[in-house]
Amino acid sequence: MSEIVLEKVTKRFGRVKAVDGVSFRAQPGKFVVLLGPSGWGKSTLLRLVAGLEDVSEGRILIDGRDVTRLTPDKRRVSMVFQSYALFPHLSTEENIVFGLKVRRMPEEERRKRLAKVAEVVGLADLLDRKPQQLSGGQRQRVALARAIIAENDICLMDEPLSNLDAQLRHGMRVEIRELQQRLGMTVVYVTHDQVEAMSMADRVVLIREGRIEQEGSPEELYARPATLFAARFIG
Ligand code: ADP
Ligand code: MG
Repeated sequence: MSEIVLEKVTKRFGRVKAVDGVSFRAQPGKFVVLLGPSGWGKSTLLRLVAGLEDVSEGRILIDGRDVTRLTPDKRRVSMVFQSYALFPHLSTEENIVFGLKVRRMPEEERRKRLAKVAEVVGLADLLDRKPQQLSGGQRQRVALARAIIAENDICLMDEPLSNLDAQLRHGMRVEIRELQQRLGMTVVYVTHDQVEAMSMADRVVLIREGRIEQEGSPEELYARPATLFAARFIG
């Protein structure tokens, strides 16, 4: 299990401050949700942790190690994107093991992991299909499988359910949460949906204009919103 610490992290795009002095800690094995309206720096925050963007100021630590200047492959962090980012010409199996192949993992180890992960996410019977032959929920499972097969202790998820219809979304919330607990992963999960945040999180970090407005357990935020914005947004 892994801990993530952000120390006064700022990210500028030209004159836009997308992330403004954010400090927080995601404790090992916890499910932390970054919640806030769109355009207020949530995706940028995740991409900074993954190493897909450079930090302008501040530090990022994973298990006490300063990873601020490390490339994504050195951080041992998986990421699930809203768009799924599957390769259309590759089968489910090929999509899932793609990253392992790139890392030149031996075939035997790849097979072992694939069998386990396909079972866990319920794709064992669909390994030959291409993405267009899968439902939205199944595609999302492929994206999840690809993230967890790396066996990283940290998984970052950027609005992974927002392309699914309401009913499916509800089921997938439960699945993701169970998976996270079973594997003991530290998850940072981005959403603009307060119901999703309140139902999934161990800890909610409410983001407003690139800053932390309030953080706490779902119960704390609900019972004691610190500001009018928090009260309105949490409902
Ligand atoms: P959210 O995920 O909360 O919707 P984002 O992190 O995507 O917000 O964006 C936060 C702000 O940063 C927005 O104003 C957005 O336009 C800006 N931004 C994000 N990525 C870039 C980029 N690569 N170049 C310039 N501006 C960006
Ligand atoms: Mg976003």
